[in-house]
Amino acid sequence: MSRMSSDLPDLSAMLADLHTLVSLESPSSDPVAVNRVMDVVEGWARDLGAVTRALPGGTRSMTLGVDGSGVARPLLILMHADTVWPTGTLERMPWRQDGDRLYGPGTYDMKGGIVGTVHALRALRGQWPDGGIHLLLSPDEEIGSDSSRPHIEAAARAARACLVVEPPVADSHALKTGRKGTGGYWLTLRGIASHAGNRPADGASAITAAAEAVLAVQALARPDIGTTVSAGVIHGGSAMNVIPETCTVEFDLRVSTLAEGQRVDAAVQAWRPADPRVTVDVRGGMNRPPFEQGADTLALYARARELAGTLGFDVGHESVGGGSDGNFTAPITPTLDGLGAPGDGAHAQHEHIRLDRWPAHVQLLTRLIQTI
Ligand SMILES: [Zn+2]
Repeated sequence: MSRMSSDLPDLSAMLADLHTLVSLESPSSDPVAVNRVMDVVEGWARDLGAVTRALPGGTRSMTLGVDGSGVARPLLILMHADTVWPTGTLERMPWRQDGDRLYGPGTYDMKGGIVGTVHALRALRGQWPDGGIHLLLSPDEEIGSDSSRPHIEAAARAARACLVVEPPVADSHALKTGRKGTGGYWLTLRGIASHAGNRPADGASAITAAAEAVLAVQALARPDIGTTVSAGVIHGGSAMNVIPETCTVEFDLRVSTLAEGQRVDAAVQAWRPADPRVTVDVRGGMNRPPFEQGADTLALYARARELAGTLGFDVGHESVGGGSDGNFTAPITPTLDGLGAPGDGAHAQHEHIRLDRWPAHVQLLTRLIQTI
């Protein structure tokens, strides 16, 4: 960093707050544990003067300076309190500082982003931008955001823009200006069981049909334009000497455009096994729509880059493969993602944030909130 600004946030205070959140393990599967994290964050927001509300499904809504007149629209900031780490992870992956790296479950994805947001807001000292700020803290981002999605979309429709405090691109200052859409399919094949040695022709093999499905569905991939399809799980059959009656296959799908999602969906729904005696039941589809890298997002990024420049550092940007709740808001309101804590190792043993880079990103978030 070439120029240090005088109003950098206090790193030791941010670390103390982050330690509080990381100590409260919060796997998506445990709503009681996730609620403990939300209670702490809601307390911090109340100290700032926020009006807070628990929404159906558990998402917390916190507003600062939102008058509800609808004249000026609020700035939406998205956060999630859950992590991918089961309770007990801290025992084998403890809170640990090594030089400029701070390790621990949820530090990078995304408790660092929550703490950074709270400190960015504290730096505003009650001077909220016109229209105010609407914070949403969701409990289920890591498992598809089923309960929070309607709240996120409704808030996006009312907002003038949306900032997502998921972490920047791994090991970089780069913000996220696009994300692939994500989806999944569960195919259940049902054939006819029969003795594999005595009456093989009476049977209709669900496993043979599943093998066809794996090849046919994976052939829908178009990696050149960002579409990937992968069979990740397969279960089938009952015994070696039985023509298998059932088999299930699970596919992961990623697309860069809505049109690609529709093309793959139509082909998966229309697919049939060669043996007409085998039936197929298809469940699933797109979960998060693609966050396409639009002009409105790039304009927000340009603003962020300019502000970072005045703070003495450079932020890049990237379109990434993983989804976030920004995928829900991007089709509705200008969205910029990756405004959380820089680091590396999301969903991995070496998850950590970079303490030498973090305060500058929090300062950037403060400036963005002031000027969007
Ligand atoms: Zn996340």
